[in-house]
Amino acid sequence: MVNIYYDQDAKPELMQGKRVAVLGYGSQGRAHAMNLRDSGHDVVVGLRPGGFSWKQAEEDGMEVASCIDAAKDAEMIMFLTPDTIQPKVYREEVEPTLSGKETLFFAHGFSIHYNQILPPQNLDVVMVAPKGPGNLVRALYEDGKGVPCLIAVAQDASGQAKDKALAYAQAIGGTRAGVLETTFQEETETDLFGEQAVLCGGVSALMKAGFETLVEAGYAPEMAYFECVHEMKLIVDLIYNGGLEQMRRFVSDTAKYGDVTRGPRVIDDNVKATMKEILEEIQNGKFATEWVLENQAGLPVFNALLRRDEEHQVKAVGESLRQMMDWLKEDTTKAKEVVKVGRSS
Ligand code: NAD
Ligand code: MG
Repeated sequence: MVNIYYDQDAKPELMQGKRVAVLGYGSQGRAHAMNLRDSGHDVVVGLRPGGFSWKQAEEDGMEVASCIDAAKDAEMIMFLTPDTIQPKVYREEVEPTLSGKETLFFAHGFSIHYNQILPPQNLDVVMVAPKGPGNLVRALYEDGKGVPCLIAVAQDASGQAKDKALAYAQAIGGTRAGVLETTFQEETETDLFGEQAVLCGGVSALMKAGFETLVEAGYAPEMAYFECVHEMKLIVDLIYNGGLEQMRRFVSDTAKYGDVTRGPRVIDDNVKATMKEILEEIQNGKFATEWVLENQAGLPVFNALLRRDEEHQVKAVGESLRQMMDWLKEDTTKAKEVVKVGRSS
């Protein structure tokens, strides 16, 4: 079982008088910067001059600077740019400013676990990763609550690295809900596995395969879309709120019988064997290497595969059916902020 920490376990004095640089002002960056500031800390946001986020940060009343200027006199530096950009930001704008007393913070382990950033040994390197999107991290904080966070330590030069992570987690509201201790390795590998095998990859492939099966058997694509894509939300909401038990309380006995007898035939031992291969590629660095090289090459495979998926019939059918659903039109902008499972964007 993991260690879980709460407010009374935190030592906020470890952040006292220390300037915090939050690099990036997207989903997480905005929430972290605002919560840190409202917890009484001296915060500077680091961004590309002239970018869209810069204006937003200024409008929120934040002190904004280029990453190099933000990092220059900060003792705590949190990396909240997209993961793929972090190594460049580190190399060009953070490393040159390091004096040896900084703590580097991350909200996801990829850059450190796969050695894309190699900080000097004399620095503390920690993770504080909220288990929720930034807008929720902010909204709950304002409400006197918090989103559970993960903390982890990659380097403990001061002997206080874990306590620093916990103090930061408290400042963004995490200890109000509970902070779970993990490692960079565990967070990175489980996060990648979840998004590949189940959440993004698994779910979209499952829905498309179901949709194709019905359409190929001669059923109307509209029917296939409703049954294999649209209704996913109803089921997931039930599971989110009350686990598989709650979903099973709310569906018919016929659905439940089909669930327990047919589900394991769809996700059979072959599927599980493939999941194990995918996990191994994450563990042995094959996926990370592939993804880093793909980025260096300008994303040719990534863009080609996304384009091919855009041409799938499920897209056009979905677009026209969603036109009939008035309630979705208001939701789209909100959903854009909320739904950000993948972090590699
Ligand atoms: P995001 O894409 O929402 O925001 C990225 C920010 O970085 C933007 O403000 C962008 O303007 C800025 N940026 C881009 N390039 C930059 C550069 N060269 N210099 C300075 N700023 C630059 O990212 P996010 O989803 O908030 O993710 C940030 C980190 O948090 C990632 O490590 C991610 O894995 C992690 N994380 C995200 C979530 C989530 O729900 N989104 C949850 C937990 C952890
Ligand atoms: Mg994740």
